Amino acid sequence: MGWVIVTLIVIAAAFICCVLYVKQIAKHKFICKECSKEFNVNWRMILFAMHYENQYEIRCPHCGHVGCTVKESE
Ligand SMILES: [Zn+2]
Repeated sequence: MGWVIVTLIVIAAAFICCVLYVKQIAKHKFICKECSKEFNVNWRMILFAMHYENQYEIRCPHCGHVGCTVKESE
């Protein structure tokens, strides 16, 4: 049954890497594509949000538009 433990460790490690990566993204500000306002996003929302390149399917807290881009760090 050793392979089960190995598989679980690999999945856990992959998940932890994913969370650390998402937490790095969450430090950035997001900019709404509709109203151009900046807002912060909880890292858990990024984890479950669809994204492609630097665009994220996250709802804007100001206007409700889904779709924003990550602001480059200053
Ligand atoms: Zn907006």
